[in-house]
Amino acid sequence: MRNALAIAVAVSMSVAGASAWAQNAQAPAAAQAKCENPNALGVARVVQIDTTGGPGFGFEHFKAYDFLRDKEVVLTFDDGPWPGNTAAVLKALGEQCTKALFFPIGKHAGWHPEILKQVIAGGHTVGSHTWSHKDLSRMSTEDAITEIEKGFAGVSIGAGNQPIAPFFRFPALRHPPELVKYLGDRNVGIFSTDLDSFDFKMRKPEQVVASVMKKLEKHGKGIVLMHDFQQATAKGTADLLKELKDKGYKIVQVTGKTPIEPKKEYVDMVMKEIGGGLETARPMSSVIKTIEGN
Ligand SMILES: [Zn+2]
Repeated sequence: MRNALAIAVAVSMSVAGASAWAQNAQAPAAAQAKCENPNALGVARVVQIDTTGGPGFGFEHFKAYDFLRDKEVVLTFDDGPWPGNTAAVLKALGEQCTKALFFPIGKHAGWHPEILKQVIAGGHTVGSHTWSHKDLSRMSTEDAITEIEKGFAGVSIGAGNQPIAPFFRFPALRHPPELVKYLGDRNVGIFSTDLDSFDFKMRKPEQVVASVMKKLEKHGKGIVLMHDFQQATAKGTADLLKELKDKGYKIVQVTGKTPIEPKKEYVDMVMKEIGGGLETARPMSSVIKTIEGN
């Protein structure tokens, strides 16, 4: 029997614990700036998930918790942060004053921490999608755990040394049972999907919009899987959001009750791998000065 899942309309996220990670926890989404678009899609509901015991979501694989009401949609974006594309998705979401759930790749977060920080600043929920997007069903459990933990560490460091939401998505949605158990022990919620857009197979933004809308029409609601890494999705997000609004869909933002704290050994490992300087680096202007010439 799994632990009971508490989903409530959350107006605040209290963070217990005295560690530096916990103290840095991100501000609740509800505290974000107010919306300037009177016809915005907005956020209909913010739910808070107690991830104790590692509940799974997304009817493709996990059917225990059917928490969305009719016409409710959770937007999820994987594989970022990525130059250009992530910013386009953020801009579209921002214009509609709505929020999404992002599953960045740890390595990408190490390469583009400034983009990840924009995702956080936008008030979106950020989980993790492993360190390097390997298929965890094709490696030893030990190596797979390293991929998972380095992912949490990498995204947390990229986010500015703050704990992220306790949410995880398996690459290619392949979830070996021993790793589902590991995440359960780690109190991490697992996200599969209700509707896979298959946007990575699409070149044109209108194909992405059509794919999502068609599947939503069929299911009536759902957790939608897309990729801010993909250009067609980046270009199509604004139209998709408009279409969702026109058709009466409502956005639900998912937040975690207790952020996940990365393990120190993996933080050290990641810091070594990404050069160890993300947070310690001073602004370039204070390090390098032109003292001759222009
Ligand atoms: Zn992915």
